Amino acid sequence: MTANMHTRAHTPVRSWFTKLALGVIALASAGTSFGAATIVILNNNAAGVGFNDPTPAAPVGGNLGTTLGAQRLNAFQAAASIWGATLTSDVPIVVRAQFTPLNCTANSAVLGSAGAAVFFINFPGARFPNTIYNSALANKLAGADLSAAQPDINANFNSNLGNVGCLEGLPFYLGLDNNHGPLIDLVTVLLHEFGHGLGFQTTTNGANGAPLAGFPHIWDTMLFDNTTNKLWSQMTNAERAASALNSRKLAWTGPLVTAALPALLTGGTPQLVVATPAAAAGTFGAGTASFGPTLVDPGTTGEVMPVVDSPNNVGLACTPLSAANRAAVNGKIALLDRGVCGFPVKVKNAQDAGAIGVIVADNVAGTPAAGMGGIDPTITIPSVRITLADATLLKSALRTRSRTSSGMFATMGVNNAVRIGADPAGRALMFTPNPFQGGSSVSHYDTLAFPNLLMEPAINPDLPQKVTSPFDLTFELLQDTGW
Ligand SMILES: [Zn+2]
Repeated sequence: MTANMHTRAHTPVRSWFTKLALGVIALASAGTSFGAATIVILNNNAAGVGFNDPTPAAPVGGNLGTTLGAQRLNAFQAAASIWGATLTSDVPIVVRAQFTPLNCTANSAVLGSAGAAVFFINFPGARFPNTIYNSALANKLAGADLSAAQPDINANFNSNLGNVGCLEGLPFYLGLDNNHGPLIDLVTVLLHEFGHGLGFQTTTNGANGAPLAGFPHIWDTMLFDNTTNKLWSQMTNAERAASALNSRKLAWTGPLVTAALPALLTGGTPQLVVATPAAAAGTFGAGTASFGPTLVDPGTTGEVMPVVDSPNNVGLACTPLSAANRAAVNGKIALLDRGVCGFPVKVKNAQDAGAIGVIVADNVAGTPAAGMGGIDPTITIPSVRITLADATLLKSALRTRSRTSSGMFATMGVNNAVRIGADPAGRALMFTPNPFQGGSSVSHYDTLAFPNLLMEPAINPDLPQKVTSPFDLTFELLQDTGW
Protein backbone atom coordinates (compact mmCIF):
# COMPACT_ATOMS: atom_id res chain seq x y z
CA MET A 1 0.00 0.00 0.00
CA THR A 2 1.63 3.22 -1.09
CA ALA A 3 0.97 6.69 0.24
CA ASN A 4 -1.08 7.68 -2.73
CA MET A 5 -3.09 4.54 -3.18
CA HIS A 6 -4.32 3.96 0.30
CA THR A 7 -8.05 3.84 0.70
CA ARG A 8 -10.16 2.30 3.36
CA ALA A 9 -13.45 3.09 1.74
CA HIS A 10 -14.14 -0.54 1.05
CA THR A 11 -12.87 -2.22 4.14
CA PRO A 12 -15.45 -3.28 6.70
CA VAL A 13 -16.27 -0.55 9.12
CA ARG A 14 -14.73 -1.49 12.41
CA SER A 15 -15.66 1.58 14.27
CA TRP A 16 -14.22 2.28 17.66
CA PHE A 17 -17.19 4.50 18.30
CA THR A 18 -16.66 7.24 20.78
CA LYS A 19 -19.67 7.07 22.94
CA LEU A 20 -19.40 10.35 24.71
CA ALA A 21 -20.43 9.50 28.19
CA LEU A 22 -21.85 12.83 29.15
CA GLY A 23 -21.53 12.86 32.87
CA VAL A 24 -22.10 15.51 35.42
CA ILE A 25 -20.14 18.70 35.38
CA ALA A 26 -18.90 19.31 38.88
CA LEU A 27 -16.92 21.92 40.69
CA ALA A 28 -14.19 21.00 43.14
CA SER A 29 -10.92 21.78 45.00
CA ALA A 30 -6.60 21.98 44.42
CA GLY A 31 -2.16 21.69 43.16
CA THR A 32 0.33 20.52 40.42
CA SER A 33 1.59 17.18 39.13
CA PHE A 34 4.84 15.39 38.27
CA GLY A 35 5.94 11.87 37.42
CA ALA A 36 4.30 9.04 35.49
CA ALA A 37 0.67 8.25 35.98
CA THR A 38 -1.00 5.27 37.58
CA ILE A 39 -3.97 3.75 35.83
CA VAL A 40 -6.32 1.72 37.98
CA ILE A 41 -8.64 -0.75 36.29
CA LEU A 42 -12.05 -1.41 37.81
CA ASN A 43 -13.34 -4.71 36.48
CA ASN A 44 -17.04 -4.05 36.02
CA ASN A 45 -17.96 -7.49 34.68
CA ALA A 46 -20.09 -9.93 36.63
CA ALA A 47 -18.75 -13.35 37.56
CA GLY A 48 -18.28 -15.68 34.63
CA VAL A 49 -18.31 -13.12 31.82
CA GLY A 50 -16.01 -10.54 30.24
CA PHE A 51 -12.89 -10.08 32.30
CA ASN A 52 -14.09 -13.00 34.42
CA ASP A 53 -14.77 -15.39 31.53
CA PRO A 54 -13.36 -18.77 32.70
CA THR A 55 -13.01 -20.24 29.19
CA PRO A 56 -9.53 -21.83 29.10
CA ALA A 57 -7.04 -20.04 26.85
CA ALA A 58 -3.59 -20.99 25.58
CA PRO A 59 -0.76 -18.48 25.99
CA VAL A 60 -0.48 -16.15 23.01
CA GLY A 61 2.01 -13.45 22.06
CA GLY A 62 3.43 -12.99 25.55
CA ASN A 63 0.03 -13.10 27.24
CA LEU A 64 0.32 -15.90 29.80
CA GLY A 65 -3.23 -15.75 31.14
CA THR A 66 -4.83 -19.18 31.29
CA THR A 67 -8.44 -18.03 30.81
CA LEU A 68 -10.09 -15.72 28.30
CA GLY A 69 -10.93 -13.29 31.10
CA ALA A 70 -7.39 -13.28 32.45
CA GLN A 71 -5.96 -12.64 29.00
CA ARG A 72 -8.33 -9.74 28.47
CA LEU A 73 -7.22 -8.24 31.77
CA ASN A 74 -3.56 -8.74 30.85
CA ALA A 75 -4.12 -6.90 27.56
CA PHE A 76 -5.84 -4.16 29.51
CA GLN A 77 -2.89 -3.91 31.87
CA ALA A 78 -0.49 -3.72 28.92
CA ALA A 79 -2.37 -0.80 27.40
CA ALA A 80 -2.62 0.88 30.80
CA SER A 81 1.14 0.51 31.21
CA ILE A 82 1.81 2.21 27.86
CA TRP A 83 -0.40 5.15 28.74
CA GLY A 84 0.80 5.22 32.35
CA ALA A 85 4.42 5.53 31.21
CA THR A 86 3.48 8.35 28.86
CA LEU A 87 1.28 10.54 31.01
CA THR A 88 2.22 12.47 34.09
CA SER A 89 -0.24 12.93 36.92
CA ASP A 90 -0.15 12.70 40.70
CA VAL A 91 -3.68 11.38 40.73
CA PRO A 92 -4.42 7.77 39.77
CA ILE A 93 -6.64 7.46 36.69
CA VAL A 94 -9.50 5.08 37.35
CA VAL A 95 -10.97 3.20 34.38
CA ARG A 96 -14.19 1.28 34.88
CA ALA A 97 -14.30 -1.28 32.10
CA GLN A 98 -16.39 -4.16 30.94
CA PHE A 99 -16.68 -6.54 28.06
CA THR A 100 -20.24 -6.44 26.85
CA PRO A 101 -22.14 -7.03 23.59
CA LEU A 102 -21.87 -3.98 21.29
CA ASN A 103 -23.36 -3.32 17.85
CA CYS A 104 -22.11 -5.55 15.11
CA THR A 105 -22.98 -7.36 11.90
CA ALA A 106 -21.26 -10.12 9.96
CA ASN A 107 -18.81 -7.65 8.45
CA SER A 108 -18.74 -4.64 10.72
CA ALA A 109 -18.55 -4.07 14.43
CA VAL A 110 -18.18 -1.51 17.14
CA LEU A 111 -15.01 -2.64 18.87
CA GLY A 112 -15.29 -0.45 21.90
CA SER A 113 -16.48 2.84 23.27
CA ALA A 114 -15.15 5.09 25.98
CA GLY A 115 -15.39 8.52 27.42
CA ALA A 116 -14.92 10.46 30.59
CA ALA A 117 -17.30 9.51 33.37
CA VAL A 118 -17.32 13.03 34.73
CA PHE A 119 -16.20 16.48 33.62
CA PHE A 120 -15.08 19.59 35.50
CA ILE A 121 -14.98 23.33 34.97
CA ASN A 122 -13.42 26.16 37.00
CA PHE A 123 -11.34 23.88 39.22
CA PRO A 124 -8.06 25.07 40.75
CA GLY A 125 -5.41 24.73 38.06
CA ALA A 126 -7.80 25.02 35.12
CA ARG A 127 -6.01 26.83 32.29
CA PHE A 128 -9.19 28.47 31.00
CA PRO A 129 -12.32 29.54 32.86
CA ASN A 130 -15.75 28.15 32.05
CA THR A 131 -14.17 25.40 29.97
CA ILE A 132 -14.91 21.68 30.28
CA TYR A 133 -12.12 19.20 31.05
CA ASN A 134 -12.30 15.41 31.30
CA SER A 135 -11.81 14.42 34.93
CA ALA A 136 -8.45 12.66 34.45
CA LEU A 137 -6.96 15.88 33.09
CA ALA A 138 -8.77 18.05 35.60
CA ASN A 139 -7.32 15.88 38.38
CA LYS A 140 -3.83 16.25 36.95
CA LEU A 141 -4.09 20.03 36.64
CA ALA A 142 -5.64 20.35 40.10
CA GLY A 143 -3.15 17.94 41.64
CA ALA A 144 -6.01 16.42 43.58
CA ASP A 145 -8.67 13.82 43.00
CA LEU A 146 -11.73 15.89 42.15
CA SER A 147 -13.69 12.76 41.30
CA ALA A 148 -12.86 10.42 44.15
CA ALA A 149 -16.39 9.08 44.30
CA GLN A 150 -16.41 7.98 40.64
CA PRO A 151 -14.14 6.49 38.01
CA ASP A 152 -12.56 8.90 35.51
CA ILE A 153 -13.24 6.82 32.42
CA ASN A 154 -16.01 4.44 31.44
CA ALA A 155 -15.05 1.92 28.77
CA ASN A 156 -16.86 -0.90 26.98
CA PHE A 157 -15.45 -3.53 24.68
CA ASN A 158 -17.32 -5.89 22.38
CA SER A 159 -17.61 -9.31 23.99
CA ASN A 160 -19.15 -10.84 20.87
CA LEU A 161 -16.38 -9.98 18.44
CA GLY A 162 -15.56 -12.97 16.24
CA ASN A 163 -18.74 -14.84 17.08
CA VAL A 164 -21.46 -15.67 14.56
CA GLY A 165 -22.91 -12.46 13.13
CA CYS A 166 -20.21 -10.24 14.63
CA LEU A 167 -17.15 -10.01 12.38
CA GLU A 168 -17.30 -13.77 12.46
CA GLY A 169 -13.90 -15.41 12.69
CA LEU A 170 -12.16 -12.13 13.57
CA PRO A 171 -11.97 -12.02 17.37
CA PHE A 172 -9.65 -9.76 19.31
CA TYR A 173 -6.03 -10.81 19.24
CA LEU A 174 -5.10 -11.14 22.90
CA GLY A 175 -1.35 -11.34 22.50
CA LEU A 176 0.66 -8.37 23.73
CA ASP A 177 3.18 -8.34 20.88
CA ASN A 178 1.04 -6.72 18.13
CA ASN A 179 1.51 -9.86 16.01
CA HIS A 180 -2.21 -9.91 15.30
CA GLY A 181 -2.19 -11.06 11.67
CA PRO A 182 -5.74 -10.68 10.32
CA LEU A 183 -7.25 -10.34 13.80
CA ILE A 184 -8.01 -7.10 15.65
CA ASP A 185 -5.35 -6.13 18.15
CA LEU A 186 -6.99 -5.65 21.52
CA VAL A 187 -4.10 -3.67 23.00
CA THR A 188 -4.42 -1.19 20.12
CA VAL A 189 -8.18 -0.89 20.63
CA LEU A 190 -7.61 -0.30 24.33
CA LEU A 191 -5.01 2.41 23.66
CA HIS A 192 -7.54 4.14 21.40
CA GLU A 193 -10.40 4.01 23.88
CA PHE A 194 -8.18 5.17 26.75
CA GLY A 195 -7.26 8.10 24.50
CA HIS A 196 -10.89 9.21 24.35
CA GLY A 197 -11.34 8.88 28.07
CA LEU A 198 -8.19 10.87 28.77
CA GLY A 199 -9.47 13.77 26.70
CA PHE A 200 -9.43 12.94 22.99
CA GLN A 201 -13.02 14.05 22.63
CA THR A 202 -15.23 17.07 22.71
CA THR A 203 -18.39 17.24 24.75
CA THR A 204 -19.95 19.67 22.29
CA ASN A 205 -22.73 18.15 20.20
CA GLY A 206 -21.46 18.09 16.63
CA ALA A 207 -24.90 17.38 15.19
CA ASN A 208 -26.49 20.59 16.44
CA GLY A 209 -23.44 22.51 17.67
CA ALA A 210 -24.71 22.83 21.21
CA PRO A 211 -22.07 22.92 23.95
CA LEU A 212 -22.67 20.64 26.93
CA ALA A 213 -24.41 22.71 29.60
CA GLY A 214 -23.49 25.81 27.62
CA PHE A 215 -19.72 25.45 28.10
CA PRO A 216 -17.06 24.69 25.48
CA HIS A 217 -14.77 21.69 25.95
CA ILE A 218 -11.06 22.50 26.00
CA TRP A 219 -11.04 20.82 22.55
CA ASP A 220 -13.23 23.52 21.09
CA THR A 221 -10.55 26.13 21.72
CA MET A 222 -8.23 24.33 19.26
CA LEU A 223 -10.63 23.24 16.50
CA PHE A 224 -10.15 25.65 13.61
CA ASP A 225 -12.38 25.80 10.55
CA ASN A 226 -10.48 26.70 7.39
CA THR A 227 -13.61 28.04 5.69
CA THR A 228 -14.88 30.41 8.36
CA ASN A 229 -11.43 30.99 9.91
CA LYS A 230 -12.99 30.59 13.34
CA LEU A 231 -12.33 28.34 16.30
CA TRP A 232 -15.21 26.21 17.51
CA SER A 233 -15.20 28.17 20.75
CA GLN A 234 -15.88 31.35 18.74
CA MET A 235 -18.79 29.98 16.72
CA THR A 236 -22.53 29.96 17.05
CA ASN A 237 -24.22 26.57 17.38
CA ALA A 238 -25.24 26.71 13.72
CA GLU A 239 -21.68 27.48 12.65
CA ARG A 240 -20.35 24.56 14.67
CA ALA A 241 -22.91 22.17 13.20
CA ALA A 242 -21.88 23.28 9.70
CA SER A 243 -18.21 22.97 10.63
CA ALA A 244 -18.73 19.39 11.80
CA LEU A 245 -19.73 18.57 8.20
CA ASN A 246 -16.98 20.63 6.56
CA SER A 247 -14.95 17.69 5.30
CA ARG A 248 -11.17 18.07 5.40
CA LYS A 249 -11.47 21.71 6.45
CA LEU A 250 -11.56 21.35 10.24
CA ALA A 251 -8.05 21.35 11.69
CA TRP A 252 -6.39 21.02 15.09
CA THR A 253 -4.45 24.20 15.90
CA GLY A 254 -2.66 22.92 18.98
CA PRO A 255 1.07 23.72 18.58
CA LEU A 256 2.46 20.37 19.75
CA VAL A 257 0.52 18.33 17.18
CA THR A 258 1.47 20.79 14.45
CA ALA A 259 5.14 20.62 15.47
CA ALA A 260 5.22 16.82 15.58
CA LEU A 261 3.18 16.21 12.43
CA PRO A 262 5.94 16.60 9.80
CA ALA A 263 7.98 13.80 11.36
CA LEU A 264 5.10 11.40 10.78
CA LEU A 265 2.64 12.27 8.03
CA THR A 266 4.00 12.12 4.51
CA GLY A 267 3.36 14.54 1.66
CA GLY A 268 1.19 13.67 -1.29
CA THR A 269 -2.42 14.69 -0.72
CA PRO A 270 -4.54 13.53 -3.69
CA GLN A 271 -6.27 16.32 -5.55
CA LEU A 272 -7.92 17.40 -8.77
CA VAL A 273 -6.94 20.90 -9.88
CA VAL A 274 -9.14 22.54 -12.50
CA ALA A 275 -7.36 25.44 -14.22
CA THR A 276 -10.02 26.56 -16.68
CA PRO A 277 -12.74 27.68 -17.19
CA ALA A 278 -12.96 30.17 -14.33
CA ALA A 279 -16.44 28.97 -13.40
CA ALA A 280 -15.04 25.58 -12.37
CA ALA A 281 -11.49 26.49 -11.42
CA GLY A 282 -10.23 25.27 -8.08
CA THR A 283 -8.64 22.47 -6.12
CA PHE A 284 -10.94 19.56 -5.35
CA GLY A 285 -10.48 16.61 -3.02
CA ALA A 286 -9.90 13.36 -4.88
CA GLY A 287 -10.55 9.80 -3.78
CA THR A 288 -7.91 7.35 -4.95
CA ALA A 289 -8.24 3.99 -6.71
CA SER A 290 -6.92 0.62 -5.60
CA PHE A 291 -6.12 -0.14 -9.27
CA GLY A 292 -4.04 1.62 -11.92
CA PRO A 293 -0.86 3.64 -11.43
CA THR A 294 -0.02 5.55 -8.26
CA LEU A 295 -0.86 9.23 -8.50
CA VAL A 296 2.16 11.53 -8.73
CA ASP A 297 2.95 15.21 -8.19
CA PRO A 298 1.72 17.17 -10.06
CA GLY A 299 0.08 14.40 -12.07
CA THR A 300 -1.71 14.01 -15.36
CA THR A 301 -2.92 17.14 -17.14
CA GLY A 302 -5.43 17.14 -19.94
CA GLU A 303 -8.68 18.46 -21.31
CA VAL A 304 -11.73 17.07 -19.55
CA MET A 305 -14.49 15.55 -21.67
CA PRO A 306 -17.57 13.83 -20.31
CA VAL A 307 -18.87 10.47 -21.47
CA VAL A 308 -22.62 10.52 -22.05
CA ASP A 309 -24.33 7.17 -22.55
CA SER A 310 -27.38 7.47 -20.30
CA PRO A 311 -30.19 9.96 -19.63
CA ASN A 312 -29.52 13.21 -17.76
CA ASN A 313 -25.96 13.64 -19.04
CA VAL A 314 -24.80 10.53 -17.22
CA GLY A 315 -21.93 8.42 -18.52
CA LEU A 316 -21.71 5.01 -16.88
CA ALA A 317 -19.10 3.56 -19.26
CA CYS A 318 -20.07 0.03 -18.28
CA THR A 319 -19.79 -1.14 -21.90
CA PRO A 320 -17.27 -0.27 -24.63
CA LEU A 321 -17.72 3.39 -25.54
CA SER A 322 -19.66 4.48 -28.62
CA ALA A 323 -17.88 6.09 -31.55
CA ALA A 324 -19.00 9.54 -30.41
CA ASN A 325 -17.76 8.98 -26.86
CA ARG A 326 -14.50 7.52 -28.14
CA ALA A 327 -13.95 10.63 -30.24
CA ALA A 328 -14.73 12.79 -27.22
CA VAL A 329 -12.33 11.19 -24.73
CA ASN A 330 -9.46 10.12 -26.97
CA GLY A 331 -6.33 11.80 -25.61
CA LYS A 332 -8.43 13.49 -22.91
CA ILE A 333 -9.37 13.00 -19.26
CA ALA A 334 -12.75 11.26 -19.29
CA LEU A 335 -15.42 12.30 -16.81
CA LEU A 336 -17.65 9.31 -15.92
CA ASP A 337 -20.36 8.57 -13.39
CA ARG A 338 -20.36 6.02 -10.58
CA GLY A 339 -22.99 3.30 -10.71
CA VAL A 340 -24.23 0.03 -12.24
CA CYS A 341 -20.79 -1.57 -12.74
CA GLY A 342 -17.50 -1.63 -10.87
CA PHE A 343 -14.95 1.16 -11.00
CA PRO A 344 -12.29 -0.84 -12.90
CA VAL A 345 -14.80 -1.68 -15.66
CA LYS A 346 -15.49 2.00 -16.29
CA VAL A 347 -11.87 3.07 -16.20
CA LYS A 348 -10.85 0.22 -18.51
CA ASN A 349 -13.50 1.17 -21.05
CA ALA A 350 -12.26 4.76 -21.01
CA GLN A 351 -8.67 3.56 -21.36
CA ASP A 352 -9.64 1.40 -24.33
CA ALA A 353 -11.18 4.52 -25.91
CA GLY A 354 -7.88 6.39 -25.62
CA ALA A 355 -8.46 8.39 -22.44
CA ILE A 356 -5.32 9.45 -20.55
CA GLY A 357 -7.08 9.62 -17.20
CA VAL A 358 -10.51 9.23 -15.60
CA ILE A 359 -12.52 11.30 -13.16
CA VAL A 360 -15.39 9.33 -11.63
CA ALA A 361 -18.27 11.46 -10.37
CA ASP A 362 -20.01 10.13 -7.29
CA ASN A 363 -23.73 9.45 -7.70
CA VAL A 364 -24.60 9.93 -4.03
CA ALA A 365 -24.23 13.13 -2.05
CA GLY A 366 -21.64 13.19 0.68
CA THR A 367 -18.13 14.31 1.56
CA PRO A 368 -15.23 13.81 1.49
CA ALA A 369 -14.53 12.09 -1.83
CA ALA A 370 -14.32 8.35 -1.20
CA GLY A 371 -11.90 5.87 -2.69
CA MET A 372 -12.47 3.31 -5.45
CA GLY A 373 -11.96 -0.40 -4.87
CA GLY A 374 -11.41 -3.18 -7.37
CA ILE A 375 -8.59 -4.88 -9.21
CA ASP A 376 -7.55 -4.80 -12.87
CA PRO A 377 -3.83 -5.11 -13.56
CA THR A 378 -4.32 -4.06 -17.18
CA ILE A 379 -5.32 -0.53 -16.21
CA THR A 380 -2.46 1.88 -16.92
CA ILE A 381 -4.14 5.29 -16.66
CA PRO A 382 -4.77 7.15 -13.39
CA SER A 383 -8.24 7.71 -12.02
CA VAL A 384 -9.77 9.70 -9.17
CA ARG A 385 -13.23 9.99 -7.63
CA ILE A 386 -14.86 13.31 -6.82
CA THR A 387 -17.97 14.19 -4.86
CA LEU A 388 -21.38 14.61 -6.45
CA ALA A 389 -21.38 18.31 -5.58
CA ASP A 390 -17.99 18.89 -7.22
CA ALA A 391 -19.05 16.84 -10.25
CA THR A 392 -22.20 18.91 -10.59
CA LEU A 393 -20.07 22.04 -10.74
CA LEU A 394 -17.79 20.57 -13.41
CA LYS A 395 -20.70 19.26 -15.47
CA SER A 396 -22.33 22.65 -15.37
CA ALA A 397 -19.19 24.23 -16.79
CA LEU A 398 -18.98 21.48 -19.41
CA ARG A 399 -22.41 22.19 -20.86
CA THR A 400 -20.92 24.38 -23.56
CA ARG A 401 -18.49 22.23 -25.50
CA SER A 402 -17.94 20.81 -28.94
CA ARG A 403 -17.92 17.09 -29.70
CA THR A 404 -14.16 16.95 -29.11
CA SER A 405 -13.26 19.96 -27.00
CA SER A 406 -14.47 21.54 -23.76
CA GLY A 407 -11.84 24.10 -22.83
CA MET A 408 -11.74 22.58 -19.33
CA PHE A 409 -8.20 21.68 -18.36
CA ALA A 410 -7.42 19.77 -15.21
CA THR A 411 -4.58 18.01 -13.44
CA MET A 412 -5.21 14.88 -11.42
CA GLY A 413 -2.47 13.84 -9.04
CA VAL A 414 -1.08 14.55 -5.61
CA ASN A 415 0.38 17.61 -3.92
CA ASN A 416 3.59 16.72 -2.12
CA ALA A 417 3.53 20.08 -0.34
CA VAL A 418 0.41 19.06 1.59
CA ARG A 419 0.86 16.20 4.02
CA ILE A 420 -1.71 13.45 3.89
CA GLY A 421 -4.14 14.11 6.71
CA ALA A 422 -3.06 17.75 7.17
CA ASP A 423 -4.37 21.03 5.83
CA PRO A 424 -2.20 23.22 3.56
CA ALA A 425 -0.93 25.04 6.66
CA GLY A 426 0.33 21.74 8.10
CA ARG A 427 -2.32 21.30 10.79
CA ALA A 428 -3.87 17.89 11.46
CA LEU A 429 -7.32 17.41 9.98
CA MET A 430 -10.17 16.10 12.09
CA PHE A 431 -12.80 13.58 10.93
CA THR A 432 -15.74 15.59 9.62
CA PRO A 433 -17.73 13.51 7.12
CA ASN A 434 -21.06 14.57 5.68
CA PRO A 435 -23.43 13.06 6.66
CA PHE A 436 -22.54 13.35 10.33
CA GLN A 437 -21.43 10.15 12.07
CA GLY A 438 -22.58 10.23 15.66
CA GLY A 439 -19.85 9.02 17.99
CA SER A 440 -17.15 9.34 15.33
CA SER A 441 -17.38 12.82 13.79
CA VAL A 442 -15.02 15.51 15.10
CA SER A 443 -13.57 13.47 18.00
CA HIS A 444 -11.11 11.64 15.73
CA TYR A 445 -8.35 12.40 13.26
CA ASP A 446 -9.27 12.29 9.59
CA THR A 447 -9.17 8.86 7.94
CA LEU A 448 -6.93 10.27 5.20
CA ALA A 449 -3.91 10.43 7.51
CA PHE A 450 -0.93 8.47 6.26
CA PRO A 451 0.74 6.69 7.91
CA ASN A 452 -2.38 5.77 9.85
CA LEU A 453 -3.04 7.29 13.26
CA LEU A 454 -4.33 5.57 16.40
CA MET A 455 -7.20 8.04 16.77
CA GLU A 456 -8.83 7.57 13.36
CA PRO A 457 -12.46 6.44 13.63
CA ALA A 458 -11.81 2.93 12.31
CA ILE A 459 -8.93 0.63 13.17
CA ASN A 460 -6.15 0.01 10.69
CA PRO A 461 -4.00 -3.12 10.88
CA ASP A 462 -0.65 -1.32 10.68
CA LEU A 463 -0.81 0.65 13.93
CA PRO A 464 2.32 0.22 16.10
CA GLN A 465 0.89 0.22 19.68
CA LYS A 466 2.34 3.70 20.15
CA VAL A 467 0.71 6.91 21.34
CA THR A 468 3.51 9.45 20.86
CA SER A 469 5.49 11.15 18.10
CA PRO A 470 7.20 10.17 15.83
CA PHE A 471 4.90 7.11 15.62
CA ASP A 472 1.59 8.75 16.44
CA LEU A 473 0.01 12.08 17.41
CA THR A 474 -2.39 11.10 20.20
CA PHE A 475 -0.32 12.21 23.18
CA GLU A 476 0.73 15.44 21.45
CA LEU A 477 -2.94 16.38 21.09
CA LEU A 478 -3.59 15.59 24.75
CA GLN A 479 -0.55 17.71 25.67
CA ASP A 480 -2.01 20.57 23.68
CA THR A 481 -5.05 20.39 25.94
CA GLY A 482 -2.94 20.52 29.12
CA TRP A 483 -1.69 16.97 29.71
ZN1 LIG B 1 -12.72 6.44 18.72
